[in-house]
Amino acid sequence: MKPIRHGVATLALLVSAAAHAQANAPVLNIYSARHYQTDEALYQNFTRATGVRVKRVDADDAGILARLRAEGSASPADVILLVDAARLWRAEVDGLFQPLKSPVLERRIPAQLRSKDDGAGSQWFGFSTRARVVVYDKAKVSPADVDSYEKLADPVNKGRLCTRSGSHPYNLSLFGAVTEHLGPQRAEAWLQGLVSNMARPPKGGDTDQIRAVASGECAVAVTNSYYLARLMRSEAPADRHVVERIGVMFPNQATWGTHINIAGGAIARHAKNVSAAKQFLEYLASDEAQGHFANGNNEWPAVTGLAPPNPALQKLGPFKSETIPVSVIGMNQVKVQQMLDRVGYR
Ligand code: FE
Repeated sequence: MKPIRHGVATLALLVSAAAHAQANAPVLNIYSARHYQTDEALYQNFTRATGVRVKRVDADDAGILARLRAEGSASPADVILLVDAARLWRAEVDGLFQPLKSPVLERRIPAQLRSKDDGAGSQWFGFSTRARVVVYDKAKVSPADVDSYEKLADPVNKGRLCTRSGSHPYNLSLFGAVTEHLGPQRAEAWLQGLVSNMARPPKGGDTDQIRAVASGECAVAVTNSYYLARLMRSEAPADRHVVERIGVMFPNQATWGTHINIAGGAIARHAKNVSAAKQFLEYLASDEAQGHFANGNNEWPAVTGLAPPNPALQKLGPFKSETIPVSVIGMNQVKVQQMLDRVGYR
């Protein structure tokens, strides 16, 4: 009897010690705009590897920035994850981040996918990329009509084009990049051309535009690559039908390359747990996490030289992407929004 009682007591002690350790484990507070179910595994793997517990707040980019501004120095946020280069840039300009000096991230993340290092480090880092590609109705549209962003404004595409709202971050960033490549005057004429070519007023998300091409409502649309890859990997008959009907074009392969945007992260200005925040951002650049971005959400790894073992991405790529620093996309945002107002692109 005695040894058994002793065993039970020891077990109870161990359980309570474990609970105590769990309660005292360091906690990392993440505000995330990554609206992808599959990210749960990413956080679990980090906790398993480091013992750091993750507490997450999910909101969209704008909601997260508003919340950080409202909370000020009382904010519990340690790490901020956003899904658009221009939003990352905005948050940096508004002083919501703090710089991070990390030789690991400098080595792993290409310079054009992180903010400029002013000596104290970079304020944010891109961890995955997504291309803004064109999909078209194979039965109605010749690939040569849509092989550049410029051609989307050509009269040949009159009545064919569908997009989500012009002021959605994904479009603002594309237009900011086009403004960088063409100059503001030509970019505004181009936006005017897009408006003239609309098959319907802008509405819905990227996947809705792809479906509208497949249903015949539109003939040309613009989408982030991961929405497309998601449909390509789907086994639902409706999705298979959509994928069969559409062609995919990576625009501007003969010129400046297809526009890419990033999902990225930063350490919050008032982070309470800077060392765990740094550890987490470095984890996101690891082979394991980079593979997760590719397989979980069909994004391309930001780290170069990693082949994503993802059949849809392999089928889509490789392609030539633009090489401008993604931060200039943010710098052009105000200009772009004014152009959109002038040409009536809602
Ligand atoms: Fe998205």
